[in-house]
Amino acid sequence: MVTNLNGKIVFITGASSGIGEACALACAAAGANIIMAARRSEKLQKLAVRIQAEFKAQTLSLQLDITDPVAVSEAFAALPHEWSNIDILINNAGVALTKDHLNETSITDIHTMINTNLNGLIYVTKCVLPNMLDKNNGHIINIGSTAGHIPYAGGSIYCATKAAIIAFSDALKKDLLGTALRVSHISPGMVKTELSIVRFKGDQAKADAVYANTDPLLAVDIAETVLFCITRPAHVNISEITVYPTTQVSPAIVHRRNMS
Ligand code: NAP
Repeated sequence: MVTNLNGKIVFITGASSGIGEACALACAAAGANIIMAARRSEKLQKLAVRIQAEFKAQTLSLQLDITDPVAVSEAFAALPHEWSNIDILINNAGVALTKDHLNETSITDIHTMINTNLNGLIYVTKCVLPNMLDKNNGHIINIGSTAGHIPYAGGSIYCATKAAIIAFSDALKKDLLGTALRVSHISPGMVKTELSIVRFKGDQAKADAVYANTDPLLAVDIAETVLFCITRPAHVNISEITVYPTTQVSPAIVHRRNMS
């Protein structure tokens, strides 16, 4: 039996843009109610209005910085009772903050990437697990990256955080063996989102160049992949999925149309 999302509670980190926003829309369209976490609350409010209007799904917006372990645990402790029974966690929030080599990468950017992509993901997972274990039901989706499988120059920290998510997901699955909980790890290739504009600190030309003359994935492509994972029957765990656009075969090998 395919898992039905009607009335399920899905907690999504980084729901304010890109893949997280697309996951919120896809899950709401499939009947779930969504807890949407991110730092930009105004973006979450707009998304909440859209989800209510288009899908009549319920949402709870949480302004939350997942790099702060105290804030994360307080946010979970303060969840209204009707939102506390989380069925699916989508660990999606993440940042790439530079394409510079390590010697030119600031300590601040290093800390922010590790604290968001890895530590934050772990803090949120730790908060969601007790309830999932109590009811012996739950699904954790970790959004990694092809950068975690194939590291590239200029991505030492970002790639390291994403490689760590592979190990974390695998070990967590082993921790949970014998329970009904599921862990899936999804590695997207190039997706057109705000990731690049954030990476290049607002330099639109550099961000546009990432997607120039090629056909990147769209956020909805990854949301549909997530939806596939979370709607499999209870005995099926999609352990790993890697998704590239047709025009990409590894993080650094992208086919670009000749515009001359
Ligand atoms: P995006 O549009 O920039 O979205 C990133 C999301 O993370 C935003 O909603 C942002 O929200 C949230 N976020 C960042 N720092 C946060 C923090 N400290 N606390 C809470 N939320 C935080 O980029 P995206 O491409 O959708 O990225 C989503 C995930 O996909 C990331 O893990 C990324 O590494 C992964 N990924 C992306 C690509 C790609 O090519 N785009 C490829 C592979 C993997 P606020 O700024 O509002 O907090």
